[in-house]
Amino acid sequence: MEEQVVQLESPIEGLHASAPEALPFAPEVDIRAFLLPRSRGNLLIYSVSELDQRSPAIQDLGGVSRHYLNHRHEGMFASDQVTAPLFVHAEERAAVEAKRHVRGTFSRRHVLDEDFEVIPTPGHTSGATAFLWDSGQHRFLFTGDTIYLDDGEWVAGLLESSDPVAFAQSLELIAELDFDVLVPWAATSGKPYHAVTDRASTRRRIDAMLDAIRAEWRLGAEPVNRRVVGAVHDTRKIPAVVGNRRRRHAAAPMAMPRARLAPAPRQPAR
Ligand SMILES: [Zn+2]
Repeated sequence: MEEQVVQLESPIEGLHASAPEALPFAPEVDIRAFLLPRSRGNLLIYSVSELDQRSPAIQDLGGVSRHYLNHRHEGMFASDQVTAPLFVHAEERAAVEAKRHVRGTFSRRHVLDEDFEVIPTPGHTSGATAFLWDSGQHRFLFTGDTIYLDDGEWVAGLLESSDPVAFAQSLELIAELDFDVLVPWAATSGKPYHAVTDRASTRRRIDAMLDAIRAEWRLGAEPVNRRVVGAVHDTRKIPAVVGNRRRRHAAAPMAMPRARLAPAPRQPAR
């Protein structure tokens, strides 16, 4: 049997990353899974295809008690050698179940024990969910592809298949979360795969994404509310608005973060 890639590396205290795997259809992008060591049971976040939870590196840290996916795209890379109970948002279940058994689902924001918060952030997909983990040293936010790192820069993973209104609302929610390390599923190969941040820096980067999304989708500049949501959904029915985009992205191989729609520009420290 071919030896599995099982090394873990710890780029920052408390975080243990799997070996990177290139996406087959976007080899410049690596994905990783992350082990969160906790006294009440270790969690595995995201998935990669070459990971064995029985490996010494993982067993030495206490194994895996629960496995969480941010969203359905990770299901395509779910390893058969990760057998811990799998949890996903109810909206993601059907897609993930095609590849791996799902033990349980959730649909609301909630806290596991006192240190791990499950926060639905729909938009990239309908059940995309961020995870906020307080390790004691850091507050890590796992954003999946909703925000990922392109050459070290924060980028919004807004796809043709995504809901831009929900996406913008989720970015507003993320901007208000208290976290100091961003940990996406995907990052440019050979570049940083986590980002240390603070409230002001997070706000600036997310505002830049929101500006780009609102311009592209003609959303109102005001914070998205129910009235605007209704108006935008009407707008999206107009072929002149939606049709051009659809043709432009029709050749995309799959719903993955190829659409670099909303890069956060490099911003000088203030
Ligand atoms: Zn995705």
